[in-house]
Amino acid sequence: MHDFEYRQGNLHCAEVPLKQIADKIGTPFYCYSLPTLKRHVRAFEDPLTGVDHQTCFAMKANSSLAILAFMARQGLGADVVSGGELYRAIKAGIPGNKIVYSGVGKTTEEIDMAIHAGIMMFNIESEQELEVINARAGELGKKAPISIRVNPDVDPKTHPYISTGMKNNKFGIDIEGSMAQYLRAKDMENIEIVGIDCHIGSQLTDVSPFIDAAGRLKVLIANLAGHGVEFRYLDLGGGLGITYLDEQPPNPKDYCAAILDAVGSLGLKLIFEPGRVIVGNTGILVTEVLYRKETVNKTFIIVDAGMNDLLRPALYGAYHDIKPLKQKSGDMSKADVVGPICESSDFLAKDRDLPRLERGDMVAVMSAGAYGYTMASNYNSRPKPPEVLVDGSRYYVVSNRQSYEDLIFGETIPDIFG
Ligand SMILES: *Cc1c(COP(=O)(O)O)cnc(C)c1O
Repeated sequence: MHDFEYRQGNLHCAEVPLKQIADKIGTPFYCYSLPTLKRHVRAFEDPLTGVDHQTCFAMKANSSLAILAFMARQGLGADVVSGGELYRAIKAGIPGNKIVYSGVGKTTEEIDMAIHAGIMMFNIESEQELEVINARAGELGKKAPISIRVNPDVDPKTHPYISTGMKNNKFGIDIEGSMAQYLRAKDMENIEIVGIDCHIGSQLTDVSPFIDAAGRLKVLIANLAGHGVEFRYLDLGGGLGITYLDEQPPNPKDYCAAILDAVGSLGLKLIFEPGRVIVGNTGILVTEVLYRKETVNKTFIIVDAGMNDLLRPALYGAYHDIKPLKQKSGDMSKADVVGPICESSDFLAKDRDLPRLERGDMVAVMSAGAYGYTMASNYNSRPKPPEVLVDGSRYYVVSNRQSYEDLIFGETIPDIFG
């Protein structure tokens, strides 16, 4: 469900015609709906009413300060994967004790920063990381709270690039080896074991892999208890999918019910790390048609947004629906919607049935609220687009379009060329 609907033939975000925003700030731009965001947060949180839990929004899906500040007000925490994300989370008002830190490559500086921030826990992804965190905590005179990210070896049946919980993935510690690591952690002076964690992949459209993973963790938790290893948190990661085209993922209510059923009464506080399911359908990318190019075999609609603005189609062959801002009738024909970047993978949509689009028309690339702006780059020296947040009949530019000056910020030419 989202709030991007046609009214009198014009695509709106809540009560604001998108064309009105485009006329004011130019294209391309990202647009997020606050009413949709509110609904999605409630859809996830309401089924967990009365359940001891903390939802830590996976910031890599969308790290806009405005979005994060809203999450903070809703009581959500954050799942961060870098010092930069930790910095943003704190700036947005998310308290340290609601932050979990995941990722296979935490640097010394990032570890120190997280210890100082008093985070809820580090999700440990390797044996060496555990040693380094123990050493850093000792150096800083603190105890580092940790959980081990267990790789439960279940197939999430999603795109291989976003599958993270199988044996040959780089993530987590394999379930067989995790007992030994917990026992080592238990003996480490500056480590406090507070939890256990898994995250098996993204864009899952079925509950069964989640249930399998939870079941495997439950067995491990019982074994650990037998060895005197106990903790407070069971972190079940994120990964719930959304509808881009015709996927039918479980809704958050069914997902939560299935998880609660699977974990039973362990007496642990449940941690969730949803990303995409909260923000994916709260955002779109609006772009303008620059040229219509007809070749012998194909029609290309060349737009002013490219893979630097929205990487998912190029990276995963991902599907995003394309909707003209002005509803069009008449014949549909096949076309590729492509960007201005000098790469053949620079497409937003391939072989789509679209109404006739001409120079100056505008289109919305749907479901772009997750892994959209956060993956944007300056490739081809293209400034990043602005982000707009719509609330009812008002809109707010929450990040500016980058300028050419921004593009060369921090660069210098050394005085050696004569
Ligand atoms: C990416 C990620 C998430 C969020 O995944 P979604 O599919 O967006 O819900 C949660 N936890 C970890 C550790 C991640 O890497």
